Amino acid sequence: RAKQQGRNTYQWFSQEFNEEASFRVALRNELQDAIDQEQLSVYYQPLVDARSGQTRNVEALVRWQHPVRGLISPGDFVPLAEETGQIIALGEWVLRKACRDMVHLHSRGFRHCSISVNVSPIQLRKEGFIQTVTNALRASGLPPESLELEVVESAILLDTDLVINTLHTIRELGVHIAIDDFGTGFSSLSYIKLLPANKIKIDRSFIRDVIENRSDAAITQGVISMAHHLGLEVVAEGVETEAHAAYLRKNHCDLLQGFAFARPMPFDDLLMFLNNQVSGNRLAPRTDANS
Ligand code: C2E
Ligand code: MG
Ligand code: MG
Ligand code: MG
Repeated sequence: RAKQQGRNTYQWFSQEFNEEASFRVALRNELQDAIDQEQLSVYYQPLVDARSGQTRNVEALVRWQHPVRGLISPGDFVPLAEETGQIIALGEWVLRKACRDMVHLHSRGFRHCSISVNVSPIQLRKEGFIQTVTNALRASGLPPESLELEVVESAILLDTDLVINTLHTIRELGVHIAIDDFGTGFSSLSYIKLLPANKIKIDRSFIRDVIENRSDAAITQGVISMAHHLGLEVVAEGVETEAHAAYLRKNHCDLLQGFAFARPMPFDDLLMFLNNQVSGNRLAPRTDANS
């Protein structure tokens, strides 16, 4: 009986494995179509200055408008794209699109606004990445100072020297660098001495309970203090309530990002959001009747 059970277990795993494998093959092919046929889009989420409440930066977040499955989040396809190498083409597409959209935003009067683009460790280790960045800047006309690349700590766990050299070269171009999801990477603190960053983004897992959880509060305050002593700016991710925002302001966090201010949105909505923000968030009286 044990033997039969063993075989059933084996069959069960085997079937599961095959389903999983064919699902992934299908998804990989569909992702290629998405890249080729422009089913991808870029949403933008504002990062606001903690003091003034004005948007200083927006983060580009890729979305996949799948013809059958609907809107798919990057958490569901970026890891796959990293495994298959498709992240190279996908990442370049996002970078170029984000730079073009930001130039458009600047032309509408929001020149103080910069764009942050997430960069996968795979992209950073790929030969020619620096050229990809300079090409995107040149093609769009975006000033390098208006571009920031978001990199996770673990990006430097493999090929450390290569990645650090690449990041230094990118800094020399004038492009900014942010360490994303800070605190989740299991990497040594000594790495942040090596990373030529301008900014640290505290992962939202520390922010969620920061008000009631003493450990999260200690970590958040510690990271803010450390970052400032290193001459870096600090962003809190996942700021969902006004209470979070007030706490972080009180603790000298520089920038706030989260649903309390805005969700990621299509470019046209971003333009509307920013226009409302300059007019003091007051809804302008409707003038359609007069015009
Ligand atoms: P991330 O870079 O840490 O981006 C922030 C994520 O937190 C976004 O999820 C955003 O929608 C979400 N978020 C923002 N504010 C809040 C909040 O107040 N509460 C909660 N619960 N969530 C909030 P999203 O867009 O699903 O992206 C997930 C991850 O996918 C990103 O995490 C990033 O690692 C990756 N990703 C997104 N776009 C790209 C891309 O173009 N290239 C690469 N390589 N990775 C990307
Ligand atoms: Mg990010
Ligand atoms: Mg993050
Ligand atoms: Mg994250």
